[in-house]
Amino acid sequence: MDKIRHSLVLRIALPFALLLMLTMGGLSLYLSSFLQKSSLEILETNLLSEVRLVADRLSVLMEERPGDSESINERIKLYSRLLGVRITVVDPQGNVLGESYSVAAEMENHLDRPEIQRALRQEASTEQRYSDTLQTQMLYAAAPILVNGEVAGVARLAVSLRTIQRNANTLLNTILVATAVATILAILLAVLVTYYSILPLKHLTETARRMANGELSEIKPLYRRDEVGQLHRAFQDMAHQVKGQIDELQTERTKLEIVLANMTDGIIIVDQEGLIQLINPAALSLFHTTEEQAYQKNLVEVVRHHQLIELWRKSNISLQQETTTLETAPDRVFLQGIATPLHESLPGMTLMVFQNLTRVRKLETVRRDFVSNVSHELRTPLAALKALAETLQEGALEDPPAARRFLQRMDTEIDNLTQLVQELLELSRIESNRVPLQRVAITPCDLASPAVERMQIQAQRSGLSLQLECAGDLPAVKADPQRIENVLVNLIHNAIKFTPPGGQIIVSAHQERNTMVFSIHDTGIGIAPEALPRIFERFYKIDRSRSSGGTGLGLSIARHIIEAHGGRIWAESKENEGSTFSFTLPLA
Ligand code: ADP
Repeated sequence: MDKIRHSLVLRIALPFALLLMLTMGGLSLYLSSFLQKSSLEILETNLLSEVRLVADRLSVLMEERPGDSESINERIKLYSRLLGVRITVVDPQGNVLGESYSVAAEMENHLDRPEIQRALRQEASTEQRYSDTLQTQMLYAAAPILVNGEVAGVARLAVSLRTIQRNANTLLNTILVATAVATILAILLAVLVTYYSILPLKHLTETARRMANGELSEIKPLYRRDEVGQLHRAFQDMAHQVKGQIDELQTERTKLEIVLANMTDGIIIVDQEGLIQLINPAALSLFHTTEEQAYQKNLVEVVRHHQLIELWRKSNISLQQETTTLETAPDRVFLQGIATPLHESLPGMTLMVFQNLTRVRKLETVRRDFVSNVSHELRTPLAALKALAETLQEGALEDPPAARRFLQRMDTEIDNLTQLVQELLELSRIESNRVPLQRVAITPCDLASPAVERMQIQAQRSGLSLQLECAGDLPAVKADPQRIENVLVNLIHNAIKFTPPGGQIIVSAHQERNTMVFSIHDTGIGIAPEALPRIFERFYKIDRSRSSGGTGLGLSIARHIIEAHGGRIWAESKENEGSTFSFTLPLA
């Protein structure tokens, strides 16, 4: 801005100053020479008139007193005093007859002087000349002194031109000083006017610079109607529009950033050279890197899977979308990579999308396992039923006691099948949350006793003692009593199934901080440590031959019910010593 200001100031002030200097200078030169000339002319005219008058007066004197140089000298001195000039009188031979300032007799012959020559020819005239005697420019005027029509002498008036010259010089000096002062004032004025005229430009330049740096502050209004004011308004409009557009872009950008940040799919944009231009948080965590480590780095350094690098290369060559799937090591993440060349919108760039298909694949595996488990569970009782029916058909019917036994077994198998189907339905209902929990506040004893009572006869039949240990002052829990009874029945049923006769089953409840812990302890066969983490899986049975009648779904259903209550279920066991199944419920 300073440069602009300086140059503008110079551009405006300099021509002004030059013009002023030239005009004033020219004018002063012309004026001083004109004045000098005109005052000289006036002086000449006056001197000529005066010399004529003096000549006339002297002609009378010379006529009256011819040859009386003394009275001539006296008269000359008188006239000289009166007129303030030097007066010299010479005879026709050039000899000085009288002189007002010097002694006539000492003076040289004046015949050679041009004005004297002309006067002798009866011609009054003036002459300018440098006087060696006085060492100054002199103006002379000479006129003939006529006596009886004859030239009796010449009267000459002389005046120094120094005064005129001095006056002219004074005038010239005055004008020059005035010119200098006017020039300085003009320059100052031009500088001031320019400075204040372009001051808003300085403000605009600073605003433009700030805008270039991304600062979009409001521009102060400028109430001026001139060109600068118009420029200011145009700039203001432009800034307003730019701000609007930037705001719009910013909003779009923020939206895009939010989308990218919250996407579960990893996104990377790679340029022609393979340098990463954009990477979203999902991709960062997928490839265990940070924004600083990945941005502008080579894809090879960040994505350390040759299949994905190959995918990018392939799509770069084919200019088509390419897809690949792979399992990363050591995370065992199952990834689908899609590379799309962005040749139309962003030439040379490639969009790479990474979808984590691990969960989908796991669900797929679970679904497959489930179908195969259900088929297996259905096939076993169906095969038994088939075999029993065939045996009956093949003659066992003729043997009524055997036939009754077979029918009994068929009945058991049908019960198993019914139980399986019921449990499957129950599991599906709980998993899909179709039957909401009917939670009420209930004391642990009230919650556990119906299940214990229900299982008492079964326990006795198996030669086991079943007890409920529960303090009456325990705080109430918040639970669906029907569902929790099912869980307890299931756990007690398992304890009965896996505890040899003579054993003991204890159902108890105790408070632990803000939860109630229910435990079902048995003195049964126990569970091997490697099987312990898996028993809550669907269809998991430790020893298929041993768990007669079980579906492997009971614990899975129990886990779902407890988790739906916001609780936790787990098992502790020692082989051949017994197991303890525990679950928690929140207090009411
Ligand atoms: P099931 O209907 O076969 O009992 P569960 O899901 O209830 O299915 O139990 C899964 C497996 O856990 C059982 O097959 C059994 O091997 C083991 N199990 C469950 N409870 C006990 C227990 N109290 N003692 C020993 N093993 C048990």
